[in-house]
Amino acid sequence: MAYILSVFAVRNLLVLSLALNVSLILRVLLLHDSQDGSFNGFFFAEQKEEALATKITRLSSSVAPSSPLTMAQGDEDRVINLDHGDPTMYESYWQKKGDETTVVIPGWQFMSYFSDATRLCWFLEPEFAKQIVRLHNVVGNAVTENRHIVVGTGSTQLFQAALYALSPCAEAEPISVVSAAPYYSSYPLITDCLKSRLYKWAGDARSFSKNGPYIELVTSPNNPDGFARRSVVNGSEGILIHDLAYYWPQYTPISSPANYDLMLFTVSKSTGHAGMRIGWALVKDEDVARKMTKYIEINTIGVSKDSQVRAAKVLKVISDYSEGPNEGDSFFEFSYRVMAKRWKQLREAVQQSGLFSVSDFPPQLCMFLNRVFEPQPAFAWIKCEGDIEDCESFLRGKKILTRGGKHFGVSPKYVRISMLDRDKNYETFVRRLSTIRS
Ligand code: PMP
Repeated sequence: MAYILSVFAVRNLLVLSLALNVSLILRVLLLHDSQDGSFNGFFFAEQKEEALATKITRLSSSVAPSSPLTMAQGDEDRVINLDHGDPTMYESYWQKKGDETTVVIPGWQFMSYFSDATRLCWFLEPEFAKQIVRLHNVVGNAVTENRHIVVGTGSTQLFQAALYALSPCAEAEPISVVSAAPYYSSYPLITDCLKSRLYKWAGDARSFSKNGPYIELVTSPNNPDGFARRSVVNGSEGILIHDLAYYWPQYTPISSPANYDLMLFTVSKSTGHAGMRIGWALVKDEDVARKMTKYIEINTIGVSKDSQVRAAKVLKVISDYSEGPNEGDSFFEFSYRVMAKRWKQLREAVQQSGLFSVSDFPPQLCMFLNRVFEPQPAFAWIKCEGDIEDCESFLRGKKILTRGGKHFGVSPKYVRISMLDRDKNYETFVRRLSTIRS
């Protein structure tokens, strides 16, 4: 009897252990997929108008890098999603840096809402503020003297804070918000999301002719087309927001420190840490900075300290390498080289195919890298030539997902393609693009 019981118990244990192992393997696979795959649905632009079929293709592509199912299909059949500007290309650099940017936060730290109650932006971590100033000084891409720093949950939150702070509250009508087309596709969506009585999206800045005050968004280099920009509206009552998310040396020569009243920056596109959700604004006017801070207080009662501390560490490592003896191993050297290689590959593929065109950019001296080069933007703004009217659908037919011109206020003959994906995806994309004939 005892023998039977013990055999039974051993068998039970074996079955239990098998079940546990299978469930563990499944969980690991699922977790891996969701980490690698990312964020279907976070970009509101495409959610609005796309057919279910596209969403299904998107879903499958978002798990593509790690899914055994898609790998089995072979590279040439795989759906490549270059719609979002997800900066995963930078992962390999930070992986190589190993523990240099690892941050350990004890459970008792950063529990308070406050970072420095004596500061205008009371939720700004002092070390992060210090590293922001240092990095701008090292790179030479923005003036930080006599500026207030406001930290935000990404520059997306700071953009909204700026709209709130800059809108006159005594006006009968909402102030018009404009940007020259092609403009960043999120601007109209964010501006009109809450149907505010303070501000309202008024479209392409080039065709804006209304009298009175307005807010103009100047994105330089521009998302989606990569060109350096200045304000275009000729009104006397314009208030400018400069979105400088891409004014970093891997994308464009740094010719002089930007010196505007309200400048927005983000780690998403500078260091590649989009998941930290950290951005910062450099603001000249104290009242505007105060109102932006108020908005963030009302909106999220500050900004994650854990993220700010991590961001401070990443900026510090970038500055240390840029200044130190290991300059060749610096983040901007690495990212400049990757972007240069990718743009060369893209131009070759476009030429081989003959169906597309892409702009040329004038070369300029970069004061930081100390070399002359052509801008190499984070997005390629590609035009389908000939009688292809809807470039996004055309490329979708070739299993390349992009964002079409209409999201940016221009013709559907254009598409925006992220240049910041992982090597494997990018290589497959250029190879496929080069073979497209019709
Ligand atoms: N501005 C521009 C021009 C952008 O391209 C982006 C990111 N796509 C943002 C702002 C938003 O950046 P964040 O991730 O900091 O919210």
